[in-house]
Amino acid sequence: MKERRNFELTTSSGKSTPATLDLFHWDKMQAKAKALKWAGGVLGFGLLTIFIPIVHFVSVPAAILGAPVVFFVVSKVFATGTEFQGSIKCPDCTNEFRLDGTTKSWPHYINCDGCRTSIKMELK
Ligand SMILES: [Zn+2]
Repeated sequence: MKERRNFELTTSSGKSTPATLDLFHWDKMQAKAKALKWAGGVLGFGLLTIFIPIVHFVSVPAAILGAPVVFFVVSKVFATGTEFQGSIKCPDCTNEFRLDGTTKSWPHYINCDGCRTSIKMELK
């Protein structure tokens, strides 16, 4: 489910700016479907490397063992988290950058791409 929400971005120096981001909430079935795609990607990578000598001794077993782990981790992250996407402006250096991430709770902390300062994201 997609939702557009307003945020307040605050840095440690106390400066703040408003921002609007798209939020995505996943239910358990959607999270499992996403996890299945990721696990399939890992297995696909393993299959592709079958034809590469020497590398396939490591990559194929790693893909077979890694796919269930990837499935478990991805389904957990998406079932309990909220994905956010959008463009924000740093309150400190006014650098505009693209944001794409997942969080379990609000407020969420990110770092500016330009000045590396910590930015607190709060739902309004
Ligand atoms: Zn900045």
